[in-house]
Amino acid sequence: MAFRNLKELNIKGHHVFLRADLNVPIKDGVIKDATRIKETMATLKYLLDGGASVVLCSHLGRPEGIGFEAAFSMAPVAAFLEDDLGLDCRLASAITGEEVEREATALKPGQVLLLENLRFDKGETKNKPEFCTSLAKLADTYVNDAFGSAHRAHASVAGVVPLFAKDRIAAGFLMEKELRALGTVTHNPAKPLVAVMGGAKVSDKIDLIKNFLGKADAILIGGAMSYTLLKAQGVAIGKSRCEEDKLDLAKEILAEAKAKGTKLLLPLDHVVASEFKEDSPASVTDGVEIQDGKMGLDIGPETVAAYVGEIKGAKTLIWNGPMGVFEMDAFAVGTLTIAEEMASAADRKAFVLVGGGDSVAAVNKAEVAARISHISTGGGASLEFLSGIELPGVKALEV
Ligand code: AMP
Repeated sequence: MAFRNLKELNIKGHHVFLRADLNVPIKDGVIKDATRIKETMATLKYLLDGGASVVLCSHLGRPEGIGFEAAFSMAPVAAFLEDDLGLDCRLASAITGEEVEREATALKPGQVLLLENLRFDKGETKNKPEFCTSLAKLADTYVNDAFGSAHRAHASVAGVVPLFAKDRIAAGFLMEKELRALGTVTHNPAKPLVAVMGGAKVSDKIDLIKNFLGKADAILIGGAMSYTLLKAQGVAIGKSRCEEDKLDLAKEILAEAKAKGTKLLLPLDHVVASEFKEDSPASVTDGVEIQDGKMGLDIGPETVAAYVGEIKGAKTLIWNGPMGVFEMDAFAVGTLTIAEEMASAADRKAFVLVGGGDSVAAVNKAEVAARISHISTGGGASLEFLSGIELPGVKALEV
């Protein structure tokens, strides 16, 4: 896909509408983790240093959409931008309307006007044309740096975009980085390409698996979703988590993998316990079958060895979803070993992309995040992109 890069835009003296992801955790008016704000600073600083003024906006949490709610106000974000990051930033009196338009028009180069939480107005999530028109009045240039919101057809990422002149629309640096990384692994990967997929439900990952059948050289499956696929093959899975209503679909996937020549690897052994509890005594199965009364909670050592072997030969790797219940230490070994192996692959210059909240948590838990080539910031957006689904916020940027 082709999109305009921020550096291709003349920004000096322009008023830029910057949609960022400033959806940070806030408790009692205090920002608990400012990572997201810091991640968009490269784009924001580039605009301000280049002589643009910026109308900055984001959603924050899930307000009801019927007006101002103090708990979801952007006020702490405005204070952080001004006090901690030293920007010339003020919080707008509202999101849309004549007063905000006056505030936006009055902006001087290097100044930031932060709009209130976009979701205070239902027009944002409903992508209402009047709301889009009002937003578009606030600037002459549109920049989107909020990859994590790109899978939603909301006003600030979708509806408002075509209201700007075609040559005044660009992707911010964070958005560009995501699109390049995700684009490379899906459209132009160095081979062999190995995809590691796990997590709770096969139903959440069907499009993801299907999109990589025929594309990946191997798909390695772990986590609870593997039990649905194993059961579909007639393997005994004890009382492991299984989606009974997805067994036919699982059979379809297995047949499609065979037809398209993609190796689909399923666990060969498992770490099992009688209960879904940290202190439930764990044991390793002797082979693929799980006895009655036991549930699979992690991939076993034979599986880990087989998966590590595939990872070692790969030039491109994608990882979405944990191999087991990694939140419990007794069942985290499979996931943490895969995380370590992913980092080693990146060390030897394979391109390693990790996406999805739980796999990101796993590379953090394994303390290997800094070695991974690209960690996607948008859980839902990266899963949809990798599943081959067109993202409204990305489509809107297409030139
Ligand atoms: P997802 O959000 O689909 O990526 O799933 C992640 C969740 O799946 C994590 O909370 C894991 O604890 C859970 N999970 C992974 N493996 C298993 C398993 N074998 N049994 C039950 N839950 C699992």
